Amino acid sequence: MKIDCHVHVSAVAAAQHGYASKRMRRSLAFLYLIRKLGLHRIDEPFARDAAYVDHIAELVAGSELDRAVLLALDQVYDPSGQALENRTHLYVANDYVRDQVARYPEVFFYGASVHPYRADAAEELHRVAEQGAVLVKLLPNSQGFDPADPRLEGYYRTCADLGMPLLMHAGFEHTLPPIDQRFGDPLRLERALGAGVTTIVAHCGGAGLMHRRETFAGFVSLAKRYTNLWGDTAAMSNFWRVKYLWYLLDPQLCERKIGDRLEEPLKRLLHGSDFPIPITAWSFRGKIGKGDLVEALKHKKNTLQLDIELKRRAGLGDDILTRAAKTLRLPPGR
Ligand SMILES: [Zn+2]
Repeated sequence: MKIDCHVHVSAVAAAQHGYASKRMRRSLAFLYLIRKLGLHRIDEPFARDAAYVDHIAELVAGSELDRAVLLALDQVYDPSGQALENRTHLYVANDYVRDQVARYPEVFFYGASVHPYRADAAEELHRVAEQGAVLVKLLPNSQGFDPADPRLEGYYRTCADLGMPLLMHAGFEHTLPPIDQRFGDPLRLERALGAGVTTIVAHCGGAGLMHRRETFAGFVSLAKRYTNLWGDTAAMSNFWRVKYLWYLLDPQLCERKIGDRLEEPLKRLLHGSDFPIPITAWSFRGKIGKGDLVEALKHKKNTLQLDIELKRRAGLGDDILTRAAKTLRLPPGR
């Protein structure tokens, strides 16, 4: 089963679904997305949200993927368990994502999000597990918590007991306004790993372009020490993060650039697109053959397939597309 483990539900305009802050709704990224998907022609917020999910379902159905994991995103909470609406720029409710997945059970898997500071975090983890969540997504930089906080020990133990993988954003966060970028340091994930949680490090923890501090080496060092750590290839078809593809495909280059390497990095990867982050096929120029680029671009109308084509032609094998089937918490019978 081929799975894209990293697809965002982000065009949220209606209260029951979650919310996007004014700053978010006015951001260039948001306006671009709405236009690109043709959603600006739909005024009614519920219809617009549904159209966004319908669009992804069409992309998955028209690609070689068997499933895509739709991701919720919890609100910001403070350590006392108080939700901070004024600091939350995007909230995508678990029940909303669960309902969307239920509309397309043959297309989507359910990715929940449970902020570790929630007073009812353990209860909510059990609830989403019962609802069939295949993973829990967290974005420490923008959700405002330190993954290394000792208070999270119980949270991680619950995840481990439930067999619930965490999809952890790591590296810098470029899309959602951050609260503290230091929380994206992959080395802060050691507490989760030590508790036995299957931890998928989004973007393999790379910082992206133009950052003085590179965080990718943290991922490499953890991957050597923990077998329950994985990395996803989310947004690596975008020029901002494409360099990590070359590091992963060429351990010698990796060593030259960051002073460390994995012997078989491709065996630690899961496929993720990071939809709706745009794909920049031109950033593969000079790295894959001209003919390959032309072939890949035949799929440019289906960005999920284009993402696969580019990564495949760069050298990522199909085992990366199917690995999530063994890594995620799939519902019985799948
Ligand atoms: Zn993402």
